[in-house]
Amino acid sequence: MRVLVAGGGISGTVTAMALKLAGHDPVVFEAYASGGEDIGAFLTIMHNGMDALRAIGADGPVIDASFAAHGVELVLPTGETAGRRDFETEGLDGPRTVTRATLYRVLQDEATRRGVTLVHGRRLTGAKTGPGGVTAEFADGTTEAGDVLIGADGLHSVVRRLIDPAAAEPRFTGLTVVYGYTRAPGLPSAPGIYRMVRGSKAAFGFTTDPSGATFWFARVPDEERPRAEIAAVTPDGWREFAHAAFAGEPLPCADIIAATGDEVFGGHSYDVPETRVWSTPEMVLIGDAAHAASPASAQGASMALEDSVVLAQCLRDRPDPASAFEAYEGLRRERVEKLVAAGAGQNVADGTDWLYSHHIDWDAKIGG
Ligand SMILES: Cc1cc2nc3c(=O)[nH]c(=O)nc-3n(C[C@H](O)[C@H](O)[C@H](O)COP(=O)(O)OP(=O)(O)OC[C@H]3O[C@@H](n4cnc5c(N)ncnc54)[C@H](O)[C@@H]3O)c2cc1C
Repeated sequence: MRVLVAGGGISGTVTAMALKLAGHDPVVFEAYASGGEDIGAFLTIMHNGMDALRAIGADGPVIDASFAAHGVELVLPTGETAGRRDFETEGLDGPRTVTRATLYRVLQDEATRRGVTLVHGRRLTGAKTGPGGVTAEFADGTTEAGDVLIGADGLHSVVRRLIDPAAAEPRFTGLTVVYGYTRAPGLPSAPGIYRMVRGSKAAFGFTTDPSGATFWFARVPDEERPRAEIAAVTPDGWREFAHAAFAGEPLPCADIIAATGDEVFGGHSYDVPETRVWSTPEMVLIGDAAHAASPASAQGASMALEDSVVLAQCLRDRPDPASAFEAYEGLRRERVEKLVAAGAGQNVADGTDWLYSHHIDWDAKIGG
């Protein structure tokens, strides 16, 4: 089956690799000439996301390109440590921290190495369906024919609107997230751990990579501003915005932010709590296109990875795409909507066993 995949991010590349293993012929179309959106951020892949990668033997390159964190330490506004939670790691990989740019590159390289065709600079704008399958339309005026189209095109998915023109738009979570990297000496260090700080106005987290660089993020309650205005903010502007949220507090956050150069990026955070329709007989949604979680959940990438492997299993085992999409939604919807709801309340850290211990057996057959 020729499978068109819109989006060469996390779910697009991994779905394509899994489909290739399942004996299908995937082609991935990525809008950007290289990389993708929000490329400055870093993210953490939790145990369940690493398990999904391992199911198709794609965990190795991600482990090589990332570094481990073994727990989270909570720091009070006074600077005292309020508690520590160690991640259960026995027999499980994770969590692994990696920049989004590196993760995209690693997954795209691995997909290409496995024989997946991945085309950059092709932005999907529309699709027509008929008895022979689907014809995808691109911004450059070209078209591509396939049996099915997978919408792995992220938060602002075009495929979501093609499937259901009335689909809900992403919802602003009320948070603006700023990310930064610094190698400045003399800063507090957090190797192998995430140190999370609750300031009076905003939350801050940081970790130290094996080379000594500090990776930090600030989650700042904010009003929603137009996308163009957010896109125009400079590194200086983001640094000042984040610094203002912690200035004057007895915490290391402001020092870390002030010691950061131009490697600082920011943006509003959105979620997609419910997408009523996930598929038609020829098109299906995956990852953020179907269900984006707040970055506060630290699970969006891991859920996208789970989706990718499960969708490929369904397309391998079910007799036709429509029944594969139905089986996929049956296996995924409840779990991902529970996660998005927990992320919106930012209480994902409570009782995480249902999240982390999830296991995918690639050889298990997906029944009807
Ligand atoms: C700032 C930030 C921090 C985050 N931190 C974490 C974290 O710590 N842990 C975690 O698990 N998750 C995190 N997430 C969420 C995580 O990044 C997403 O859930 C994950 O990337 C979803 O993967 P995806 O493949 O569905 O979408 P994406 O990774 O966004 O990939 C979508 C791809 O589709 C491409 N595309 C878009 N439109 C089109 C089109 N029309 N045609 C062709 N291609 C198109 C895009 O360029 C992109 O490459 C974070 C998200 C953000 C924004």
